Formats: sequence, C-alpha cells, structure tokens
Amino acid sequence: INKDLEALRDLPCETLDGHRLPLWVNTGLMVDVGRSLEQGAEGVGLYRTEVPFLLRDRFPSEEEQRQIYREQLQAFAPRPVTMRTLDIGGDKALPYFPIDEDNPFLGWRGIRVTLDHPEIFLAQVRAMLKANEGLGNLRIMLPMVSNIAELEEALTLIRRSHRELQQEGFFGDLPPIGVMVEVPSAVYQARALARRVDFLSVGSNDLTQYLLAVDRNNSRVADLYHSFHPAVLHALNLVAEAGRCEGKPVGICGELAGDPIGAVLMLAMGYNVLSMNATSLPRVKQTLRKLTYTRACEVLAEVMEMEDAAAITRRLDALMVESG
Ligand code: PEP
Ligand code: MG
Repeated sequence: INKDLEALRDLPCETLDGHRLPLWVNTGLMVDVGRSLEQGAEGVGLYRTEVPFLLRDRFPSEEEQRQIYREQLQAFAPRPVTMRTLDIGGDKALPYFPIDEDNPFLGWRGIRVTLDHPEIFLAQVRAMLKANEGLGNLRIMLPMVSNIAELEEALTLIRRSHRELQQEGFFGDLPPIGVMVEVPSAVYQARALARRVDFLSVGSNDLTQYLLAVDRNNSRVADLYHSFHPAVLHALNLVAEAGRCEGKPVGICGELAGDPIGAVLMLAMGYNVLSMNATSLPRVKQTLRKLTYTRACEVLAEVMEMEDAAAITRRLDALMVESG
C-alpha cells in the first residue's frame, strides 16, 4: 500500500470523470516543508504563523519574521503559500503574552488581538510583504473574522503597509488577501466578506466548535463534535455557494479537508482547494481518484436531505466501502 501511495505523488488529484481539485497542506514548522513536497502538495493553504511565535520567549522582530517567512515562501515557490496572521488566544497562548479569561474561545483571539495591537499586525504584514519580494507566491489570510468592520480595518492596515513599503523602495504587488470563515456569523456574511477579498477559506475546526457549541479540545463532549452534523454541512454548503456567487475561490483548511469522506463532500459542494496535514494528503488523493464527481454529487444531494449526523456518517461510510 505504501508503494502505491508513493506512486500517487506525481499524479494529479482528479476524479475518474476528470474533475481536478488541488490539494494543499497546512504547515507551521520548517520540517513540514519537506514532508509536504514529498507528498506532492500543490501549495500551502494555511501556514500557522503562531508556531514560530510559540517557539520563542518574546515577539520575533520584523526582520526575524521576514527571514522565517522568506524560508517558507522560498521552499514552496512558485507554489502559493497562504500565511495566516497571528491567531493567538483561545487554546493558543504565547508564554510572553498571557491572556487570562473565563471564556477564551469567545474572548480575545485571532484578529481581535491583532487589531487591538496594530503594531503586532503591521510588523507581521510588513515582514510577509518584504519576504515576498522577488517571489510573488504569498497570500495573506485573516483568522477569526466575525464582522465586516474587522475585515475592513485589517484590509486598511495591509494596504497601508504595502504603500509604505513601496515608498521605502520595496517592489512587489499587493498579494491576494483572504478571510477565514470559522465563526457562524461569517457563514451568513460570506458573500459580503467574499466581495471584499480574493478568497475564502473555511476553518472547519473552529466553525464546528462554534456551530455546535462544543469545545474542540474537551474530551467530555467529544461525542458531540460531529463534523458531519447537518448544520455543519449546510454551513459549508452556504460558504461554497457564496464564493460561487461572488466569483471568488473557496477553500477549506480544517481537519475535515484531510478526512477522505469530508473531501468527497467538499468536492461535490464545489470547493476549489482542500488544505490538510501532509500525512492526510495521499489518502485523500487516492479516494478522490477512485470516484466520479457525478457520484460525489449524488451522495451529497442525498446527505443534504438527512437530519442526523449518525445517519449521514453511515451513508458516507457505505460510499467509502462501495468505492473501495
Ligand atoms: C480551523 O479552525 O479549522 C483552522 C484551520 O484553524 P486552527 O485549527 O489553527 O484554529
Ligand atoms: Mg481556527
């Protein structure tokens, strides 16, 4: 089986009836890079910038960040690398920037922190833009956006950084900018968000947690964390539709993309890219290559009529058996 998976690396992710779906990877450390390229990743859908921040005892300087980001961009060039601005708070705390709250997942996290600390945001964006000079494969992505004002504010800061760098003599275009859809409010405003950016990317880990009110890290309620809950599937479908209506590509970078069954549903919903851990990539590719897009759409249509997660899961397991 391992040999088969190895041979898969250079084959496209394409269904039996010729529907292409690029598979990207989620990264954080430099060690993820080699593994990702070995698996045939076509890009990076989520580079978690908080990882290098977590490995230090203070905020890395703009120049330190530039070097770290440059290494990532260079390693994957010319493939696109989607860098997410700092997503701390919630379950991710920096030892040198403690946040103490009763409800951290509903508190100060992601874009909320960096908009309150524009100096952190600006240093990061400047470092990303500088790192991109001469490469041009950077994409910037914003986490935990829950309203339009946050997005507008972040866009203003990014554009300002770009203008300032140009005045300082740096070259390079403004990179594509995208927003993560990982809060229920963003699902219902997906079209308004999409109009203002170049791409959307669903963070299904947080989106599932917030839609179902189930802490993603609490084992006591893990049984209630259903990735195939009808509410989750309808939300994912809405976001795909919103992207289609606005003519903007939509991806997904949560764990669901790395689940072969989830990947089949995302394919059928019309997602344009799936981003996952490198280790999940071969299995997802293998599954999609054994299936027709038409069949995936038939199963999606069936599943979208179903009313409980257990029945949906049984139906999807049967599909996996059917397609070997
Ligand atoms: C997500 O929420 O699905 C996601 C990709 O981001 P993270 O897991 O880093 O919160
Ligand atoms: Mg998230």
